[in-house]
Amino acid sequence: MKFRRILSIILVLSMILSLSACATNTGVKPTDEENIDAIFTPGTYEGEAEGFHGTIKATVTVTELEITDITVEHTETAGLGDKAVEKIALEVKENTSLDVPLVSGATYSSEGIVAAITAALEKAGADIAALKSKSVEEDEEAAADIEKTADVIVIGGGGAGLAAAVSAHQNGASVIVIEKMPQVGGNTIISGSAYNAADTERQSSLTMTDLEKQTVKDIISSEQTDPEVKEWQETLKKEWEEYLASGKTGLFDSPTLHKLQTYNGGDKIGNIKLINTLADNTLDSVEWLEDLGMEFKDYVFTVLGGLWSRAHKPEKPLGTGYIETYMNYIEENSSDIEIMVDTTAKSFIVEDSVVKGVNAESKGSKVTLNAENGVILATGGFGANVDMREQYNTIWPSLKDIKTTNHTGATGDGIVMAEDIDTSVIGMEQIQLLPMGDPETGSLSGNIEQGVQDRIFVNKEGSRFVDEGARRDVMTKALMEQEDSYMWVIVDKHSYPTGDTVNNFNESIDSLVEAGRAFKADTLEELAELIDVDPDELVNSVETFNDAVEGSIDDPFGRTLFDNKIDTAPFYAGARVPTVHHTMGGVEINEDAQVVDNNGEVIKGLYAAGEVTGGIHGSNRLGGNALADITVFGRIAGTSAALAK
Ligand code: ADP
Repeated sequence: MKFRRILSIILVLSMILSLSACATNTGVKPTDEENIDAIFTPGTYEGEAEGFHGTIKATVTVTELEITDITVEHTETAGLGDKAVEKIALEVKENTSLDVPLVSGATYSSEGIVAAITAALEKAGADIAALKSKSVEEDEEAAADIEKTADVIVIGGGGAGLAAAVSAHQNGASVIVIEKMPQVGGNTIISGSAYNAADTERQSSLTMTDLEKQTVKDIISSEQTDPEVKEWQETLKKEWEEYLASGKTGLFDSPTLHKLQTYNGGDKIGNIKLINTLADNTLDSVEWLEDLGMEFKDYVFTVLGGLWSRAHKPEKPLGTGYIETYMNYIEENSSDIEIMVDTTAKSFIVEDSVVKGVNAESKGSKVTLNAENGVILATGGFGANVDMREQYNTIWPSLKDIKTTNHTGATGDGIVMAEDIDTSVIGMEQIQLLPMGDPETGSLSGNIEQGVQDRIFVNKEGSRFVDEGARRDVMTKALMEQEDSYMWVIVDKHSYPTGDTVNNFNESIDSLVEAGRAFKADTLEELAELIDVDPDELVNSVETFNDAVEGSIDDPFGRTLFDNKIDTAPFYAGARVPTVHHTMGGVEINEDAQVVDNNGEVIKGLYAAGEVTGGIHGSNRLGGNALADITVFGRIAGTSAALAK
């Protein structure tokens, strides 16, 4: 399977293809080519429409009867939206139809490319209604049933599943990964991609503030009851004393501080053993990814709700770097690792209480997958499954009408499958919301924050309402108390030194302003006018924040994470609303990623990793801990399954 970053595709029609397309087309094109009416005015035409990440531009070349070439320029997500754009452009061309199926999981990109081609064909004088009513015949004949065997079967081709596949192969296993969507990537590829790991080398360029020093002291002396957590505190105390004695000025950090922040940040109900394993292996897994070819920036930052500057940022946007890295390895080792997309796991094959394989379906045919060593469940969470949210949510008001950052495949299938074989499922009520959803789509795209330190949130009156460096649940609950649960992120030139500076989603601030998704002004008063908040109140909010940055006052909301003042034009604002982001509950595992049943016994042959698992993050997952979790436990699951027997 080919996986490449494609920002622009060129589809060239071969004579053979065009002739065969000509012969098979029905509906619009008359069969008797001697007496036909032209359906296009020959020429090359351009059309534009909005995709998920901005404008999609289609250049379409037509003869009187057919589309001979479609060239597309776009900035859709690599590995996801770009595949949809490519597939749809090809189908439109080959079928001379605008009624082509949209690509599941990439709806905005799919609709965008269809609209862009439509705009071009309108200019070519096409009867758009006729092209839209000419349906593409699907191949109704189901393929034969499939049966395959590998050492390790992985269910789910997101970050956890692909990490597991690579590590299983590195440990000598043959692997089959099944993925229900038409493409791999899951939530991982559309995530903000921040990866937490204590990494004092990258942290050495950050100066430690007095407030951060106080945070460490507070964590050392905080009230704890669990003996292992008290040991963490003892260790942290020693590490902190060593740091102070060393005279270093860079940001202090250690796996121990990471453990304590993860545990405290989840209200002390996260699984201590899993937290231990997570924080002890995060940096090693960054290095593992780098050995596989992944590139991270040489600095770290504080991601939303991450509480500390330890988030690693990939060089490539969103989560594309992770997926590309794994897929490059998989391509290079394709004789031993197979990816089957459009293949949905339905149930486990269990013999004598041992998981031996997976029953799945692919486009109507039955797929039986036998595992010599074990099955790894990596199907992600259930953030996109409204019924499951409603079933388990006890903490938030109804989540029925709240949008989500998740891809459409995040429907909790693996949890349901696991429950069918008496697996222990824990923490299902722990659903994470972010205060950072796009008001239209719920997506993280269009988010103008670059990190926690340099931005504030204001409500519709222009007033701050929360510590913007707080936990995600704390910030979202506070947002829900504001008018229309609606806020503005306010930043200045420190976040966007130039108009072409991009956010996490590779969107430049200029393009967001142009699309009306962000607002820009030379003064705060003008910005307030643009976003319809009280100018005096916005100025007052920013001034108070700036005083807190300076240290002349304590922040009224108890904020401790600061860097620059918001004082340099241009100023920017972007609207955000609550959005469902992560489901912390799921299948219970141990430190070896083995799945545990309702009696606390290991289920032989079954491993799990990633968002499908529960328990590690407690009531609130720290920002930046998901990528770390799926990588660390994906690797462990792959190794455990490969070495089992
Ligand atoms: P994680 O971060 O835990 O890896 P992701 O959401 O990134 O989670 O990936 C999970 C992947 O599992 C997604 O690509 C999703 O489409 C896939 N998946 C979910 N349910 C099934 C299923 N029943 N069969 C096969 N793949 C599935």
